[in-house]
Amino acid sequence: MANDNSQQFRIFAPMNTDAIKLLPGRYCNSLTTYSRFVTREVAIGDVPMGGNNPIRIQSMTTTDTMDTIATVEQSIRMIEAGCEYVRITAPSIKEAQNLAEIKKQLRQRGYTTPLVADIHFTPNAAEVAARIVEKVRVNPGNYADKKKFDQLDYTDAQYQGELERIYQKFAPLVKICKEYGTAMRIGTNHGSLSDRIMSRYGDTPQGMVESAMEFIRMCEALNYYSLVISMKSSNPQVMVQAYRLLVETMVSEGMNYPLHLGVTEAGDGEDGRIKSAVGIGTLLEDGLGDTVRVSLTEEPEAEAPVAIALVKRYVERAKGERLKVKAGVAEDEKNLSPFTFHPSPSYSPYEYKRRSTYDANAFIGGHMVPRVVIDLSRQNLKDPAVLNDAGYLYSPLLDKYNMAEQSVDFVYLADQLPSFTLPGNLKQLYNYSTWQTLADKTNCHPVFTLSEYIGATGRTSALNMVRLTSADVDTEDFALLPFDKSLVFILETSAPHGMADQRSFFFKMEELGLDVPVIVKRDYSFNSGSESSKNVKVSPTGGDLEGATNLQLYAATDLGALLVDGFGDGIWIDAPEIPLSVITSTSFGILQATRSRISKTEYISCPSCGRTLFDLMVTTQMIRSRTSHLKGLKIGIMGCIVNGPGEMADADYGYVGSGTDKVTLYRGKEAVKKNISSANALDELIGLIKDDGNWIEQGT
Ligand code: SF4
Repeated sequence: MANDNSQQFRIFAPMNTDAIKLLPGRYCNSLTTYSRFVTREVAIGDVPMGGNNPIRIQSMTTTDTMDTIATVEQSIRMIEAGCEYVRITAPSIKEAQNLAEIKKQLRQRGYTTPLVADIHFTPNAAEVAARIVEKVRVNPGNYADKKKFDQLDYTDAQYQGELERIYQKFAPLVKICKEYGTAMRIGTNHGSLSDRIMSRYGDTPQGMVESAMEFIRMCEALNYYSLVISMKSSNPQVMVQAYRLLVETMVSEGMNYPLHLGVTEAGDGEDGRIKSAVGIGTLLEDGLGDTVRVSLTEEPEAEAPVAIALVKRYVERAKGERLKVKAGVAEDEKNLSPFTFHPSPSYSPYEYKRRSTYDANAFIGGHMVPRVVIDLSRQNLKDPAVLNDAGYLYSPLLDKYNMAEQSVDFVYLADQLPSFTLPGNLKQLYNYSTWQTLADKTNCHPVFTLSEYIGATGRTSALNMVRLTSADVDTEDFALLPFDKSLVFILETSAPHGMADQRSFFFKMEELGLDVPVIVKRDYSFNSGSESSKNVKVSPTGGDLEGATNLQLYAATDLGALLVDGFGDGIWIDAPEIPLSVITSTSFGILQATRSRISKTEYISCPSCGRTLFDLMVTTQMIRSRTSHLKGLKIGIMGCIVNGPGEMADADYGYVGSGTDKVTLYRGKEAVKKNISSANALDELIGLIKDDGNWIEQGT
């Protein structure tokens, strides 16, 4: 390979640059209003992606690709559930070849949905698949990198030599894709970066971006542009930063390829949904994303309804007055809000930095973990057991409460007085007028409106909460606010793009130099599975979701997006139709997914695919049943040894399928028990955790 080819990697053909209006250093059109970032349109069969096309829904089969009937039937279930693309793993040539039979049978049954071949390690399988399916996915961390390098430092010449070696392996695939009109996803995974990238950048968002950019540049050197890019991680924080950095990097190099959004190894149930929504939803709120794949350790047809629900909100929103994209071009700066793309030097969308606030008399703010508030005012306040759903387990025999790991910090009682004594460490919030009438104010704190607070004579020296909106900051009342360290804001919104509205509030606080702690409050009203508040209707075709699931998804999007940006000292979710227990677990789930408050074990489990060596759903439940009390521990559960260890990312322990009925256990990234019988594997895992001193008995 001549050096001039390496120079070609830096030659970029101009692409739709009239659609790219971002200024350097920016990653989205606006931080404070909804504006979809318009990307290049890429043809994928007869379902194009990017441009002004709808945000596409997709998922991946979990069957053995050699089992044609099972794969065809599962694909049909996924398509019926709403998938617009179906991805199928092709670990070797024989599976790649069988994609032709799968495609033929789907077409015979009338399904024209584009198929995507998922490739790891095997260029020859990719080259076969690219002639059959509409799109191939390659992982730049392991394409043509069969061995694990031990080399920690690369000279510039060695680094370039590696790129040239990869180019030789990769160029044939690109040429086939060009010839057959096949699209390609360059899909970077946080957990499987090459040693070359690791040596220069570590496992950072920047390393993830550069990993993809190397492959994109090679494609462009070959005049191939049918690309879609992804930056997945099981950590939503890392995933969001990587996608944002990717967009900024692409734009600076004159590119605008469509984005495939996903959180890897998100797990199952509520945790999987919340984690996915924090990552995917945050980026959708930023106006980024052209296709979504939600990865759950569940049947693949369960994923599409979740993805549809996440995306549907923006379809509705884009029809609204706040749409800022016209004919593929972002409107002029002057038409956007004055807080468009905040210029503050202390705010970076590419790294986590919690907003600095004062410690409000040890109740909230400062270095304290974000607090959880729930509304108890509509509950039966004659029964102490009502607090079970708030994490205070009432024992009638002893007439006392036991705190759980997820015990809320504040309950809002409005103007209702409970007829029982609340636990001593649970703070009660009352409307100011009612609070004034309380004979015993121990543990009780007032909630004011903005005007009430200004005129109030009876504030406390301990904790005063003031409800307000972003718009209130611009009023005369706000200018009259008396500030001291007892003051905490409760930030509300009724804006259609509520997250951005609330984000603009934090920017205003910073401009004013105010470090008042803020509880972010969101209100949701659900009716028959639809979010009926404001102008947003959510009843996705392809599968209605229960109100509780919608709450998990939307609250995780709206509050998670702010927490990922470091905003919020507390959260308050109000949803009258949803059981209190769901609101409590959703609140703590969002804090866990954003890693701002850890209250339970974290499971990083893969969604399974044709490589999977055991029943992931059953195994995950089994492991969860014995380890769910190990607060703060991260356990990876991976279906195969080929990709699993790399994709567990920062798990403390790993349970990885390594053969039929065989499991390999990991401590961090080190395999410590290899190929043990799956019958004993869970006991062995627990033994390992005990040996490390990380085990606690349940109930202690
Ligand atoms: S880790 Fe899981 S999803 Fe990934 S390739 Fe292996 S079995 Fe498939």
